[in-house]
Amino acid sequence: MSPVDALLVVGGGPAGHAAALAFRAAGGTGPVRILSADEDPPYNRPPLSKDYLRGETGEDELPLSAEDGGPDTELDPDTDPDITVEVGESVIALDPAARTVDLASGRTLSYRTLVLAVGMEPVTLPVPGGDHPAVHTLRFLAQARALRGSAEDARTAVVVGSGFIGCEAAVSLARRGVSVTMVSPQDTPQEKRLGAEVGRRLAGWLDDEGVRLLGGRSVERIEDGRTVVLTDGSTLTADLVLAAVGVRPVTGFVQDAGVAVQEGRIVVDEHMRTSFPGIWAAGDAVLARNAAAGRHLAVEHWGEALAMGEVAGRQAAGDGTAAWSAVPGFWSEIGDRTLKYAAWGDGFDDVTVVDHAGGEPGAFTAWYARDGVLVGVLAHGADEDYERGGELVGEGAPARD
Ligand SMILES: Cc1cc2nc3c(=O)[nH]c(=O)nc-3n(C[C@H](O)[C@H](O)[C@H](O)COP(=O)(O)OP(=O)(O)OC[C@H]3O[C@@H](n4cnc5c(N)ncnc54)[C@H](O)[C@@H]3O)c2cc1C
Repeated sequence: MSPVDALLVVGGGPAGHAAALAFRAAGGTGPVRILSADEDPPYNRPPLSKDYLRGETGEDELPLSAEDGGPDTELDPDTDPDITVEVGESVIALDPAARTVDLASGRTLSYRTLVLAVGMEPVTLPVPGGDHPAVHTLRFLAQARALRGSAEDARTAVVVGSGFIGCEAAVSLARRGVSVTMVSPQDTPQEKRLGAEVGRRLAGWLDDEGVRLLGGRSVERIEDGRTVVLTDGSTLTADLVLAAVGVRPVTGFVQDAGVAVQEGRIVVDEHMRTSFPGIWAAGDAVLARNAAAGRHLAVEHWGEALAMGEVAGRQAAGDGTAAWSAVPGFWSEIGDRTLKYAAWGDGFDDVTVVDHAGGEPGAFTAWYARDGVLVGVLAHGADEDYERGGELVGEGAPARD
């Protein structure tokens, strides 16, 4: 068995990256090891559906660095030889009492403190043929590479799902000259999450970009990875099919170890503490208590993965004050248009959409409220509203008229 790691991080995404950096920045000493099941060294995920898919940037621009956020410390083995990153290493079992993890490669590693930052994996479409190898999903660089490769020769594409990743990828493909049809069970994109009015605007953006939206339709089956049969009997045949239909946490080994997990997510408090001493968890895979919200939230944003990872790393280094209290923030780029969203993200009962004349064309802000209290803001071309709105949400300000 190798020497005991002072900090062992499972996951090479932003949460794991920030945890390792924060551990050092908070004075944590001793060997730090980051394990990633991914075969590629840690990279930025957001460009995979944007500039990388459009073919405007290459893989050389993807690697994660300290500039990608988190504490101001380089994650660089040259400057900190006691931080190692091991890729292609998957944890398959955890023993919290013995403080060890087993890897698929057959090794067992011991830790003093552990941060679980395992993130998500994309789900396949749960219909016959949905798991055909030719049907693309998009989470990992290897998947993005395959999708971009297919896009090079494709004339037509079907994108199933109208979430942020579906919308971003559809527009990126369209900008490459691919004729794109989007199929969504919702009438307009993001309708459930952001409301019908915002959904209508997003549908307009897709239309402007040449993406044909088939809303209110569901897929019945996929034949040969290329022919999409809808429940209304219509058929779409395309050179490329992308299923952007959601993700699930990869926490089977965590649950098996007896760590508290709810609907697949690792349950942590605002200090990112799991139900076992010496084990913290952060990022997309957690259900975390937010100190300002006063309740647990499931958040899948890059910036929050960094923020939660930082809390976990500082805690592991002995800084017991570190806590997650920021209002979760998210941005999305659909072609040239940017949406900025700051919200608790767990529901609203009222939305007020305000148009802004005179600035960026089509600029607007959507204010979300629940029980008379502001719970979110979504801004396009209105950065001040986004900044101020995030503060108001954090303060629990009353709903906008
Ligand atoms: C295409 C795309 C575009 C996106 N765009 C945006 C955006 O514009 N804005 C935004 O805010 N968010 C965006 N996101 C979401 C953002 O990428 C995630 O919120 C973020 O990556 C979550 O970070 P994480 O560290 O929790 O998990 P991940 O980034 O998923 O990393 C998890 C890591 O854990 C590893 N792992 C998993 N299981 C094991 C195991 N058993 N053993 C070892 N390693 C393991 C994985 O290999 C991976 O390295 C996007 C996501 C995608 C896929």
